[in-house]
Amino acid sequence: MEFDLIDLIRRHTAQSRDDVRMGIGDDAAVLAVPPGQELAVAIDTLVEGVHFPPGTAPADIGWKALAVNLSDLAAMGASPAWALLALTLPSPDPVFIEGFAEGFAQLAQPYRLALIGGDTTRGPMTISMAVHGFVAPGKALLRAGACVGDAVLVTGTLGDAAAGLQLLQRGGPVDESDARYRFLAERLNRPTPRLASGMALRERATSCIDVSDGLLADLGHICAASDVAAEIESVLLPRSPALLSLFDETTARDFALSGGDDYELCFTVPMARVAEVQADLARLGCGATRIGRIVEGSGVRVRDVDGQWLESTRQGWDHFAA
Ligand code: ADP
Ligand code: MG
Repeated sequence: MEFDLIDLIRRHTAQSRDDVRMGIGDDAAVLAVPPGQELAVAIDTLVEGVHFPPGTAPADIGWKALAVNLSDLAAMGASPAWALLALTLPSPDPVFIEGFAEGFAQLAQPYRLALIGGDTTRGPMTISMAVHGFVAPGKALLRAGACVGDAVLVTGTLGDAAAGLQLLQRGGPVDESDARYRFLAERLNRPTPRLASGMALRERATSCIDVSDGLLADLGHICAASDVAAEIESVLLPRSPALLSLFDETTARDFALSGGDDYELCFTVPMARVAEVQADLARLGCGATRIGRIVEGSGVRVRDVDGQWLESTRQGWDHFAA
């Protein structure tokens, strides 16, 4: 596509790194992996109308396309370095590109992450981003490794992005001056990848995943990979004041259990190390809450506030019918 557009992207995302021998501008990027490091690589695609609503600000899309990928590196305990961007747009719109590149750059800059290439084509709006990070040999945090007796923890709060999406989709009047609304919309549009926390969890967590599809689904992946089960106490689920004040308890609980797009880390640590790990993450400005434990078996069970086990319904979660 038009060279100007690629040049626009390049100018907005310029980031010089010694390990980029050739970045945007040739047929392929040429990169030097630091000696003694392994590469962690991930790719995610955002489709308009599926992964973000039409009308989302271009800068928010640029931020989020990178954030969801960095969240995958965070879950591996990797330190981010490079990104590739495949951009499909209905028209070569410089206003969109400029906004997108700015949102991307805002998140990329503090990590000195370099955009090293990509592809630009015409079609329904679709954004594929790939990221590359470094991790010491054998030190990547995997989904497999959770042990019976381990504690299950999550960073931050859960359910905010689902709440933000619902407020957005509800249409009607939302009070933009309401700080609670702005907080939830920000959690949806500008998720914070927990990179520093992921790196701090290397050598400490026995397993780790980022919460993109909802706690139950993603913790379920840890359980399957680790061949264990998890028991979660819904009373322990960390939820933001904004979520709790705008939604009733049951809805807030269901958002926290099944809502997606939070990009927090869910991880397991031996019970004896919980306090130490919480203190480490607190020093990085990231809360971590113990929400349950690993037991023998398979799957994830949730005990509600009243001590009853919950079961899945089409709308959300209910008590087991007696
Ligand atoms: P080619 O036809 O050789 O694939 P392109 O015209 O597609 O070359 O791309 C030219 C240069 O611009 C390449 O270095 C490519 O990586 C880069 N590039 C193209 N699109 C993007 C994009 N959306 N973001 C970043 N770099 C891009
Ligand atoms: Mg190309």
